[in-house]
Amino acid sequence: MSERAAILGDLAERARFYAGLTDVGIPRGPSRPEAAGAAAAAPGEDLTAIRDFIGDCQRCKLARGRKNIVFGQGNPHAALMFVGEAPGADEDEQGLAFVGRAGQLLTDIIEKGLKMRRSEVWIGNVIKCRPPQNRNPEPDEILSCQPFLEQQIRAIRPKVIVGLGKFAGQWLLKTMEPISRIRGRLGAFEGITVIPTYHPAFLLRNPAAKKDVWEDIKVVRDLLSAG
Ligand code: URA
Repeated sequence: MSERAAILGDLAERARFYAGLTDVGIPRGPSRPEAAGAAAAAPGEDLTAIRDFIGDCQRCKLARGRKNIVFGQGNPHAALMFVGEAPGADEDEQGLAFVGRAGQLLTDIIEKGLKMRRSEVWIGNVIKCRPPQNRNPEPDEILSCQPFLEQQIRAIRPKVIVGLGKFAGQWLLKTMEPISRIRGRLGAFEGITVIPTYHPAFLLRNPAAKKDVWEDIKVVRDLLSAG
């Protein structure tokens, strides 16, 4: 593709994005049936609409370096949702969340800790494209991506959301407090119970912290089994 065509494509995508903003600058996204008073769409249908809306996203600078958009995957009716930070190299390659080493540890947490199957839960991230060299997500990237995760949470409406690591925990609880302080603290996102815990990648480097995550997982188990 010529540079001119790439720039025009980028401008067109941006124009579509800005044209879709509400008065307060939030993307309208797929229509919210409850707002229109219509019968609620099936969650799976909403997720498809959200994925369509994301399209071949060029809304932030991460688009240039990514191979795949990592939308997240799992059960569209999940009672439990995990939210991580951003895709790494394996996730970017495969277009799936948490499929590398950290993902294997997350599988253990789900299967051994919660006695659930990975396919029963939803797994996603705050950011849907891989940051270069796995650097931390930057504020403009988090802002560009944020409507999509908000819409995914509204579509799935899980009973519990586990925020994995600092970025997810802070995003979900709308705080800048460090993960060491918010870990294990129950909060809410639009009425859905949230519990931040350590990121599996942190656990790979600091196995001693697994005992804290185990405490959080026991809370998740109790929340899920309570009525
Ligand atoms: N780390 C994350 O935060 N998310 C992934 O999908 C993989 C690793």
